[in-house]
Amino acid sequence: MASEISCDICRDLLPLVQDGVASEDSRAAVEAHLRSCPACRALAGDAAPPPPDGQELLRRIRRQLRGALIIVLLAGILFGLELTEGVDMFYNSLLMPALGAVGYLVYRWKALWRIPLLLLVLCGVVALLKLLRGLAVIDAASLLIWTGIYCLFALVGVLIAGLLHFALKKEG
Ligand SMILES: [Zn+2]
Repeated sequence: MASEISCDICRDLLPLVQDGVASEDSRAAVEAHLRSCPACRALAGDAAPPPPDGQELLRRIRRQLRGALIIVLLAGILFGLELTEGVDMFYNSLLMPALGAVGYLVYRWKALWRIPLLLLVLCGVVALLKLLRGLAVIDAASLLIWTGIYCLFALVGVLIAGLLHFALKKEG
């Protein structure tokens, strides 16, 4: 364990460390100080590479997780819309609230309008795909009505996820 040193000591030792003539303890102490002190780090220039920033790493992980969740969301909505008018369509009463919860994870309260919007847009895409596949007899009105009902289910999911998050935040 290197003991903590002040900025002055760090700056005194820095040239020795950079010339490679400092003791192992001094080098460790200076490196530890540079990790926690942006001012001395700036002074050290690129002689000491900046340590990996935990915050930046966390942000990157969050971005990747968000991307994965959006893919899950889109795939789930498309899958659910495909079920419409099939025998399995009532699974959507479970799927849509779950997707609403995923939507809350990604968009927080903005999910309240983004999820219905996504559903409507994807509803249009699914209707178009069905047309292109030659399933010309699609009942656009009923697809729209069901999409509206899915929106309500999804919004319930958003609300539940949001309220749970709120409750957990209050406890934590
Ligand atoms: Zn310092």
